[in-house]
Amino acid sequence: AAKVVILGAGQAGAQVTFSLRQGGFPGEIHMIGEEPEPPYQRPPLSKAVLFGTISAERLRLRPEAWYASNNVHLHLARKAVKIDRRSRIVELDDGSEISFERLVIATGARPRTLPVPGSELRGVFNLRSLCDVARLKPFLVPSARVVIVGAGYIGLETAAALRVMGLEVLVIEQADRALARVTSPLISEFFAQEHRRHGVEIRTRTQLHEIVGRDSRVAAVRMANGDEVPADIVIGGIGIVPNGQLAADAGLDFDGGIVVDENARTGDPQIFACGDCTRRPIVRYARSGRLESVHNAIEQGKQAAAAILGSPRPVDECPWFWSDQYDLKLQIAGLSEGHDEVILRGNPADRKFAAFYFGAGRLLAVDAVNAPPEFVVAKRWIEAGTTVARELVADTSMSMKQIAE
Ligand code: FAD
Repeated sequence: AAKVVILGAGQAGAQVTFSLRQGGFPGEIHMIGEEPEPPYQRPPLSKAVLFGTISAERLRLRPEAWYASNNVHLHLARKAVKIDRRSRIVELDDGSEISFERLVIATGARPRTLPVPGSELRGVFNLRSLCDVARLKPFLVPSARVVIVGAGYIGLETAAALRVMGLEVLVIEQADRALARVTSPLISEFFAQEHRRHGVEIRTRTQLHEIVGRDSRVAAVRMANGDEVPADIVIGGIGIVPNGQLAADAGLDFDGGIVVDENARTGDPQIFACGDCTRRPIVRYARSGRLESVHNAIEQGKQAAAAILGSPRPVDECPWFWSDQYDLKLQIAGLSEGHDEVILRGNPADRKFAAFYFGAGRLLAVDAVNAPPEFVVAKRWIEAGTTVARELVADTSMSMKQIAE
């Protein structure tokens, strides 16, 4: 069997390893991971981990001993610095080299740094890794004043967690509403109201201009309109940049993500890429793009492993995602981009409802708030390409189970 080397020991890289061993792959597997931790889940980092209710061990995708007992070589706290495609060798940051027959690039993404003066001050954070959380935690004292930049999922989840911990939270967002990039005005407004109700201030159409320091620590933030707000902590949540430099330097196609096909294969037949670092075909929506989610990392990890094993390609699933804020569980199936109609099922005032997105009469996506049956059924419909009657979906006198039958 071919020797497989995986760059990046995160969600996607780990999935390749799990699927290869599950599929009976007998060959050598090496994982190179820049972080000191064995592969772990990131979603809790902006949720329960901030409360301190989950230990680092519990976040691990497999116990550390699993790797050795499955003959997987974990090279942690080691960064790949060069891919030599001609000689099929990866160079590591300690000068060592490792040869491969199949290579998987699963280097993920890094947070975009706040593009303003003062972003290097003490008290400015991102939230991507356990290490980021460890640096942030000592600053999280009740009544500390936090400014979160960006009202996306990570920004709002962090706002909720820190507010519950008793911190003063201000979220600033340059767009005209929260979650503008990912959901409809209706869902944005619902979440904005929930945050206000909990005492989080959200200022939209507001651009950060400068982080003002005193003694090299954060003291305030200044907005583009001249407003200044005192702050002890600033957290950036303005999106991620895929780690694609290694691939681009090796001459692989990069277009806002490492370009792969529906088997997670790059233009080089022996080299695969999966997870946040890729630009992939989104088969069901007839386009390509970057999907930043656990589900995507797992799906592409399975695709790469199947291709390496020479087994059939796994069936395409419907993209899905979730977000937890306060006692609200938002579950999203499908991609709502390009919808021309939203059908509401239930009443947002009940804090339990779902928005169904249609485009040209076809069900594209659902945002379900505290409504797991709506999520589950809609996901199944989207996967099967079922034609869904809009009146039926809005009819709350019938349960989702009854409607689905
Ligand atoms: P990662 O998990 O980032 O793994 C990539 C790894 O590669 C990293 O460890 C990195 O250090 C390493 N690496 C990079 N370059 C090199 C190199 N040159 N050499 C060696 N190693 C390298 N998704 C959801 O679906 N639901 C959620 O609720 C959700 N919440 C999230 C909350 C937070 C705070 C964050 C940060 C993410 C969240 N996500 C969520 C997104 C999800 O975690 C990511 O989409 C997923 O982790 C992507 O997996 P990946 O393997 O592509 O990248």
